[in-house]
Amino acid sequence: MSTIQLETDYLIIGCGAVGMAFADVLLSESDANILIVDNHHKPGGHWNDAYPFVTLHQPSAFYGVGSAELSSGRKDEVGLNKGLMELATGGEVMSYFNQVMQHRFLPSGRVQYFPMCQYAGDGKFSAMLSGQEYQVSVNKKIVDGTHFKTSVPATHTRSYSNDPSIDVIPLNELPQLKEPRNEYVVVGGGKTGIDAVLWMLENQIPADRIKWIMPRDGWLMNRENAQPAREFFMSTMGAQALQAEAIGQADSMDDLFDRLEDAGCLLRIYPDTRPKMYHGATVSQDEITELRKVTNVVRLGRVKHINPTSIELEQGSVDAKADALYIDCSARAVPVQDIKPVFDGKLITVQTVRTIQPVFSASFIAHVEANYDDQDKKNDLCTVVPLPNDDVDWLLSNAGQMQNQFKWSQEAGLREWLISNRLDGFTGLTIPDESTTEEEMAVLGRLRAAVPAAAENMPKLMREVMTRKAVQ
Ligand SMILES: Cc1cc2nc3c(=O)[nH]c(=O)nc-3n(C[C@H](O)[C@H](O)[C@H](O)COP(=O)(O)OP(=O)(O)OC[C@H]3O[C@@H](n4cnc5c(N)ncnc54)[C@H](O)[C@@H]3O)c2cc1C
Repeated sequence: MSTIQLETDYLIIGCGAVGMAFADVLLSESDANILIVDNHHKPGGHWNDAYPFVTLHQPSAFYGVGSAELSSGRKDEVGLNKGLMELATGGEVMSYFNQVMQHRFLPSGRVQYFPMCQYAGDGKFSAMLSGQEYQVSVNKKIVDGTHFKTSVPATHTRSYSNDPSIDVIPLNELPQLKEPRNEYVVVGGGKTGIDAVLWMLENQIPADRIKWIMPRDGWLMNRENAQPAREFFMSTMGAQALQAEAIGQADSMDDLFDRLEDAGCLLRIYPDTRPKMYHGATVSQDEITELRKVTNVVRLGRVKHINPTSIELEQGSVDAKADALYIDCSARAVPVQDIKPVFDGKLITVQTVRTIQPVFSASFIAHVEANYDDQDKKNDLCTVVPLPNDDVDWLLSNAGQMQNQFKWSQEAGLREWLISNRLDGFTGLTIPDESTTEEEMAVLGRLRAAVPAAAENMPKLMREVMTRKAVQ
């Protein structure tokens, strides 16, 4: 079989949310041709492998690609997200990306899409089911839309082992259970573990039959403060003001977290344990109330091995019931990766330029690619905001975001672009108009007033962050 030669302006590796958000902006803001390669059979990347009860953890209103709305504009009227903007289910996200591909990308005549193909580097890829090889001649850039290496329980490799008699399932299999068990052990304290526990409680598994292995407790974002709509101005922009004030006034990182918690900006499940982790997971207050029903929490580090009578962990062991079911939630959804320059000659590596906002970041980087020429300038505008991992990374990522916001505010035209980009979600809320109330103006005034004090106090807090990271 001879290699098929192809040509394109942009070769995008990965047809997940990031590759698609990038392509969408190129379609709107350039006349470039695009070729997208992905090893899944449908657009949407990791959503192809998601558990059946997954939803977005932040509102649909600012997820997906910029040109197409994912939200129906509704608020949830029932359930644990009641009163807040809707969260698309995994099925809805998959359907959305499929629609974008079928009704926008492919009919444009400018996109070639190669699903079920494995990219091998240097413009080469092969069809997984036929072995057909392709070589792409790239006129402009190769775009790496796989840098986040999103990891989900159904496909990741577990870092712990178990005796053959032990039942370990990814949380994808929970809805297939038909018989009760005496004990359900959730392995992992991140967003996936939270989703597993909420699903089990919702499906009548008694809280006292759930054991939760939580290597580190996490600080969680309060979803009420991430609502990109005017109706939620006071909670969303109010939280921005409170955050800036807290940074400006804090004496230490512990003091900062206390202030952020008191202000309702950060939440934790268990009030008596100080979190050591921050991954940007987002929850509602009602979810926190539910989760607190589970009191059998094991904090002895990560699981190493499971046998019929005990669970061996990094810092000790605990008894296990013989017929316990283990639910693996230990995949790190977005593992921390090395930071690279976003623009490096012919290669664009899509990374976050706003804290934990991969799709907004992809659209922003594509906008910069389509509208700026100088590589140094492009990299300056797209300074990478590192993905958070430890608690103190909350400050690192927010500081990076504040610096980028400041740079963007100095750039003619960028503010208008941000306001018109639905993936941005929030810039529009900072611009007063004739309908802005006095109360809202007061919040904007507090935010503006708090930023200089926050910038002044930042170096002191940063020194503590660096010291703590050195020993963590
Ligand atoms: C359960 C869950 C919920 C989330 N909820 C939100 C949310 O509410 N809001 C939010 O902003 N973010 C959320 N995220 C974060 C999420 O990671 C991003 O929003 C986004 O979906 C990641 O997209 P991606 O394109 O970077 O990665 P992926 O979806 O992993 O896409 C990359 C694609 O590239 C493919 N690929 C990799 N290597 C190759 C290769 N060599 N050849 C061919 N193909 C390759 C992969 O198989 C995949 O299809 C969530 C994540 C998870 C896991």
